[in-house]
Amino acid sequence: MHRKPVIAANWKLNHGPTDAKHFLQRFLAQTPRQQDRTLIFFPSAITLTTVADALKDRPDIWVGAQNVYSEPQGAFTGENSVLMARDAGARVVLVGHSERRHVFGETDASTTKKCALTAQARLIPMLCVGETLAEREAGTTASVVERQFAAGIAELDDAQIASMMLAYEPVWAIGTGRTATPEDASDIHGVLRRALTTCLDERAAAGVPILYGGSVNRGNASTLLTAPDVDGLLVGGASLDPDAWSSIVRS
Ligand code: PEP
Repeated sequence: MHRKPVIAANWKLNHGPTDAKHFLQRFLAQTPRQQDRTLIFFPSAITLTTVADALKDRPDIWVGAQNVYSEPQGAFTGENSVLMARDAGARVVLVGHSERRHVFGETDASTTKKCALTAQARLIPMLCVGETLAEREAGTTASVVERQFAAGIAELDDAQIASMMLAYEPVWAIGTGRTATPEDASDIHGVLRRALTTCLDERAAAGVPILYGGSVNRGNASTLLTAPDVDGLLVGGASLDPDAWSSIVRS
């Protein structure tokens, strides 16, 4: 069960090992140890070990993988397994990020496998769900995120579900400068919380962090964080600059 707000940086295809070292020097110099929140960096697979090493004296800051392959090992050139991610220092794995779904064609079925492999490796799956603009305009947001949630947890047992994290990331808000209103975010986080109560008791369901992501920046982070049922933030573009990121994590 994780009750502290979770503030996570998704670096996507940015910051190799050299840039990451410079970033962390600057970021750590202005970011004291956080007692009341957990921070997570999701660097590229190539940069994971560098970031994990630089953060070994900062238990308040975790490292995660942006993706893993849906098979545990074998002839899959170019992929990274969940055990490799764990060995490199990851504690969390992003599963089903909207760019994985909509740029790389990742399916609900592959999110089922990736969440299962991640949990079996005793890492935390952070399952990302969210609707496209067309789905939103068709009024199907709740059913889309419920379907994506059901696929992600399909092969998890109750204890594994209780230790996962969720991120609601409307596709139309990612990298676009458009943000869901705190009320809209709360509504969908409420849908996910109710979905959690179909498999967990109320207390366990309340302990699963549900992060919001989609064009979060210095100006809107605090307001989003105070919205009911918003337990953290998953941030792309605004996490790339150490000064901006430090100010967001202290929101
Ligand atoms: C993301 O990559 O998860 C994300 C939310 O990106 P951005 O903050 O740039 O919209």
